[in-house]
Amino acid sequence: MDATKYLLIGGGLACLEAAKAIRQHDAAGAMTMVCDERHLAYNRPPLSKEYLRGEEQQEKLYYQPQSFYDEQKVQCVLGTRVEGLDAQKRQATLAGGRVMGYEKALIATGGSPVRLRVEGSELQGVHVLRTIEDAEAIGAAAGKGKRAVIVGAGFIGLETAASLTMKGMEVTVVEAMPRIWPRFAGAELAGFVQRQCEHKGVRFITGDGLSSFTGEGSVAAVKTVSGQALPCDLAIVGVGIRPNAELAQMAGLKLDNGIVVDERMQTSHAGVYAAGDVAYYQDPVFGKRRRVEHWGHAEHSGQVAGLNMAGQESKYGMVSYAWSDIFDMHLEFAGDESEHDQAVVRGSMEERVFKVLFLKGGRLQAYFAINTDMKEFPILQQLIKRKKDLSGRTAQLGDMSFDIKGLLK
Ligand SMILES: Cc1cc2nc3c(=O)[nH]c(=O)nc-3n(C[C@H](O)[C@H](O)[C@H](O)COP(=O)(O)OP(=O)(O)OC[C@H]3O[C@@H](n4cnc5c(N)ncnc54)[C@H](O)[C@@H]3O)c2cc1C
Repeated sequence: MDATKYLLIGGGLACLEAAKAIRQHDAAGAMTMVCDERHLAYNRPPLSKEYLRGEEQQEKLYYQPQSFYDEQKVQCVLGTRVEGLDAQKRQATLAGGRVMGYEKALIATGGSPVRLRVEGSELQGVHVLRTIEDAEAIGAAAGKGKRAVIVGAGFIGLETAASLTMKGMEVTVVEAMPRIWPRFAGAELAGFVQRQCEHKGVRFITGDGLSSFTGEGSVAAVKTVSGQALPCDLAIVGVGIRPNAELAQMAGLKLDNGIVVDERMQTSHAGVYAAGDVAYYQDPVFGKRRRVEHWGHAEHSGQVAGLNMAGQESKYGMVSYAWSDIFDMHLEFAGDESEHDQAVVRGSMEERVFKVLFLKGGRLQAYFAINTDMKEFPILQQLIKRKKDLSGRTAQLGDMSFDIKGLLK
C-alpha cells in the first residue's frame, strides 16, 4: 500500500489552494493530488469566454506549470479517478486498484453538469460545458452563420451565448422559467441583462422548457414543451451542476446538497475535509448553509481546508463573490440576495454603469455591479459582513456623489 500525509482528491482550484496553504506550514509532508482529468489544475472561467472564442491559448489556462508541483513536492496523479474512500481506515482506492493510505484527506471533486435525459440527448452535437475538452468540442462545432440553441439562461448559458454570438453564430437561449436568472437577481436587473444580450443578437425563449432533441445521428433541432422546433447545428445544455459527492457518500460522510462541512471545512469525519463546489458549508455572514459554485469560494475554502489540514486554526470568513463577462458587460456579484426586500440602484442603468444593492430589513445582503470600477467592493463587502443598519440611508446609497466609506463608521 502507498502512503501519503495529505491526499488531495480532485485536482482543481480548491485542491491547488489547499496544497499551497499546507506548504506554508508543512514544507516536507508528503502530498499527493489525484485528478481524473488529464490536466494539471486549470482555470475554468475562460472556457465559456476567451478560450471558447479562441482568444486564449491552452497553456494560459493552467494555474501553475509542472515545475511548480515538483518544487512544492506535490505528487500529481492525473487521469486517475479515486474510486473508494474508507474514512475509518484512512485509505483511498484509485482506479486500477492502487490503495493509498493518508493522514488527512481533502475532497474537492467539484460538480458535473446536469444532463437532461430527454429524447435525443445522446445525439452528437448536444454539449455540456465544464472541461477543456467540452470547450474544444463546442469550439470545433461552432462557426460563422451556424445556429446554436442553449438550454438554460444561467451564467454559463449567457456567457456561452455571448461568445458564440461574437463568433458570428445565430444563438437562441431557451429558459423554462418565466425569466432569465429566475433564482438570482431581481427581475429588473435580469431584464436589463436580457435586453443587452438581445441588442447584440441573442434570441430568448422564456417560460418554455426543453422537450427533446431531434436529428439523424446528430442534433438538427431542439423541441420545446410548447411545440416549437428550433433548428440548430449544435445545442448546449447549461442547467447547473450536481456536486460530485459519491466518494463522500461511500465513506459515510454526512451529505445534504453536497458534503456537509463545518466552518473549518472539516466533514463529519475527523481528518477528512471538503472544499469548493462540492462543499455544503455554514456561511458565517448569512448564518445558513450554502453551496457556492464560484471561483472565489473555491479559492478561499481550499485555503481554509489546507490550513486546518496542516494543523492551523482557520475558519471560513469570506463574503462569497463571483464575476462574469457577457459581451461588453463585466459583472461582479457578492453576498446572498435571495431574501432581499429592497433594491437600490447606484449609478446609471442608461449609461450601463451601475450597481444594484440588495437590502433586507435595512441591511445590505448583496450587490451586483455592472461595468463599475472595483474600489467600492471592499466597502460594500464590509457593510454586508458587519450587517450595518442602513435604514434611512437608501437615498445616500443611490447617490453616486456620496462616499459610502462614511457608512462604515
Ligand atoms: C465554463 C465555466 C465558467 C465559469 N466561469 C466562472 C466565472 O466567470 N466566475 C466565477 O466566479 N466562477 C466561474 N466558474 C466556476 C468556477 O470555475 C468553479 O467554481 C471552480 O472551478 C470550482 O473549483 P473546484 O476546485 O471546487 O472544482 P473543479 O474545478 O471542478 O475541480 C474538481 C476536479 O475534481 C475532479 N474529480 C471529480 N471526481 C473525482 C474523483 N473521484 N477522483 C479524482 N478526481 C475527481 C473533476 O474532474 C475536476 O477536475 C465557471 C465554471 C465553468 C465550468
